[in-house]
Amino acid sequence: MKRRQFLRNAGVAGVGGVAAASTLAAPAIAQDRISLTMVTSWPRDFPGLGTGAQRFADRLSEMTDGRIQVEFFAAGERVGAFDSFDEVASGNAQGYHAADYYWKGKHPGWAFFTSVPFGLTYTEMNAWIRFGGGQELWDELGADFGVKGIMAGNTGVQMGGWFNKEINSAEDLRGLKMRIPGLGGDVMAKLGASPVSLPGGQIFENLVSGAIDATEWVGPWNDEAMKFYEAAKFYYFPGMHEPGSMLAFGMNASFWSGLSRSDQTIIEAAGGMENDVLMAEYNAKNGDSLASLIADQGVELREFNNDVYDAFGRASAEVFEETRAHSDLAARILASFEAARENLGGWSKISDQAYVAQRNRVLGV
Ligand code: CA
Repeated sequence: MKRRQFLRNAGVAGVGGVAAASTLAAPAIAQDRISLTMVTSWPRDFPGLGTGAQRFADRLSEMTDGRIQVEFFAAGERVGAFDSFDEVASGNAQGYHAADYYWKGKHPGWAFFTSVPFGLTYTEMNAWIRFGGGQELWDELGADFGVKGIMAGNTGVQMGGWFNKEINSAEDLRGLKMRIPGLGGDVMAKLGASPVSLPGGQIFENLVSGAIDATEWVGPWNDEAMKFYEAAKFYYFPGMHEPGSMLAFGMNASFWSGLSRSDQTIIEAAGGMENDVLMAEYNAKNGDSLASLIADQGVELREFNNDVYDAFGRASAEVFEETRAHSDLAARILASFEAARENLGGWSKISDQAYVAQRNRVLGV
């Protein structure tokens, strides 16, 4: 009797176990098809920024065998480039692919999660975000707006911009109307220029018409596609304003918190991969584009001299002091960034910078 009772119980338990397993498995298999509306700040199919955002959207579907479906809208197709933040914060869309410095008018802290003047390079930025407290501060800032941001691309060091005259001193910047967003624009304003923030799709027409005198955009690969050389011939490096611009996938906070940890991890992985892939693509293509701009379009490559850079440095320090005074959170973001810059800068100096300088010297590059 005892044995039969045991078998019966075991059988019941077995059936129950199977039933329990299938009850658990069923939702896992049918799990949560996710429809995600994504808006961006980039023109459709624009090399790098646009194609990277589209590649990231496609990857979310590929990584989940289509369980995550993304409805993708380039700038202007659903909302304007600079309306993508509000579209997501309000819950009308679930995510944006953009540069968070476009939202600095909402809070100056946002600028630090793209790039700031005298900021971090790509490798330094990754170190700050992942291991230096950057992501935690980004999350704290985002929580105030109902947005959760993750890394989803990087352009690397940007060029200083396109000018229709030589810039030999800070005085030459005075009175220039220049397209330059983020805190870089604030630095230019300190030096007497008039910065404007235009989305990528509107820069060329404004430069050709003379509505602006100068512009920065990204670097040779992207700038060649914009044909800026038709309106300005002097192409300056290195840009002080965006030394490693990180692109963000910003999600509606309620959408993010409603996801399973598994789906959150998939989205983080897809964004991290684009952070890597897009940087590789920029590095692979910028050199050839620069050579073509010089050889085929007559572009005059120029380097900002030390006097101009020193003026950039003084103006940047003023802009940072204003950021520090804005709020407790802005001050803490700035303090974390400054600590990371000092720490990472010392290492970069004797690693990447020292090695590349020696390699290029020996090889005559
Ligand atoms: Ca730029």
